[in-house]
Amino acid sequence: MNAPVDPKKLIKGATGDWEVVVGMEIHAQVTSQAKLFSGASTGFGAAPNSHVSLVDAAMPGMLPVINLECVRQAVRTGLGLKAQINLRSIFDRKNYFYPDLPQGYQISQYKHPIVGEGEVVVDMLDGPSFTVGIERLHLEQDAGKSIHDLHPTMSYVDLNRSGVALMEIVSKPDMRSSEEAKAYVTKLRTILRYLGTCDGDMEKGSLRADVNVSVRRPGEPLGTRCEIKNVNSIRFIGQAIEYEARRQIGILEDGGRIDQETRLFDPGKGETRSMRSKEEAHDYRYFPDPDLLPLELEQGFVDDLATRLPELPDEKKARFVADYGLSPYDAGVLVADREQADYFEAVAKGRDGKAAANWVINELFGRLNKEGLDIAASPVSAEQLGEIVDLIADGTISGKIAKDVFEIAWSEGGSPRRIVEERGMKQVTDTGAIEAAVDAVIAANPDKVEQAKAKPSLAGWFVGQVMKTTGGKANPQAVNALVKQKLGVE
Ligand code: MN
Repeated sequence: MNAPVDPKKLIKGATGDWEVVVGMEIHAQVTSQAKLFSGASTGFGAAPNSHVSLVDAAMPGMLPVINLECVRQAVRTGLGLKAQINLRSIFDRKNYFYPDLPQGYQISQYKHPIVGEGEVVVDMLDGPSFTVGIERLHLEQDAGKSIHDLHPTMSYVDLNRSGVALMEIVSKPDMRSSEEAKAYVTKLRTILRYLGTCDGDMEKGSLRADVNVSVRRPGEPLGTRCEIKNVNSIRFIGQAIEYEARRQIGILEDGGRIDQETRLFDPGKGETRSMRSKEEAHDYRYFPDPDLLPLELEQGFVDDLATRLPELPDEKKARFVADYGLSPYDAGVLVADREQADYFEAVAKGRDGKAAANWVINELFGRLNKEGLDIAASPVSAEQLGEIVDLIADGTISGKIAKDVFEIAWSEGGSPRRIVEERGMKQVTDTGAIEAAVDAVIAANPDKVEQAKAKPSLAGWFVGQVMKTTGGKANPQAVNALVKQKLGVE
């Protein structure tokens, strides 16, 4: 079961090479209007304690009632992860004390989660793809939030998040570098967003990662791991793993041993620090929640959700390669975001797929990146970009002029076809006009003509001059042919 060790991923220590092993528990907030066991709103950014039902506040005698939408979302996510859906699952109480957990326990799933084993295929842009095994996905409640910096001597508690549904998605320890770990989270987030089961917004805490890191000599059994809690950005995940692997290697090479513990990542210092010694499952005194019956699903319910699943990124990527003739790389870039993929398809439909991909990836994405804009905020619509692709394809404008048209459409708006008409940007394909321009340049540069006859590569200089005098509107192929003909070079 041990995959061969890739030497490029090994970390050099003072006493030899080390392999880092990473597994992850991702907490993904379920996209739903109401909480997991109450009707209170899940809306983000509301006034503190304004979205709290009596259940969320753990008033005595209140009973949880499962939210069907959250169950649907968990099943849909399981299907998207090609995972086993367990028709029978059980909610347990995970007991611990926090001021922001008024029940004194979290309702979670322990031995019988709603989703079992699955997998995520992760694409690396600079290498082969690899598979991360999914161990399980279970539903559980989120806790509230303690706020310590609003008062000098008191802490505040906001229970708005208390009881919001989370999916805890547990991976197998299948990642071997920080790059792989970042790529896994990125891909998982893409899948969740395609499914619409979690918005993946890490800044708002909708997706948090607990990162398990251990190191070992290549080929040896797994080392003792440390868990870095609640890392909330993909960049920080990478930094935390790099730091933690180095820390553990340092200890081991000095003859020490790793204590299994929970650690925190400090983004300011780029370091992890000890938070508490790791608790074991038995510390939580798990037991089935007596307020909730086992959750039993019918196969038909699952099948129905399966038939209505959207096309997922892997399938879309394969289709883009097959239908539009894209390279796997370009297809991968486009499907990384569903809206980007949709935009591309709107441009590519009925047109040359490669030309469309080229314009979307290089010109549009490049420009959006520069301005820090999302595809949804693009000033150039798919319809406009499609028109530009058409204008090049039918020879109305050259690729160079097309960039100018794109700029005008970007900053001033308007139909590209009309922009070209109104501003006289049409490519000159009239041979007579091009010939006159070529003749003029040749007549003005007799010395260059002599040089070009001796050195035919100088013909390019004439082409450049003609393009300049025609404002870039002459058809470049026609100019090239005429220049060579007139100079008598090939
Ligand atoms: Mn959890």
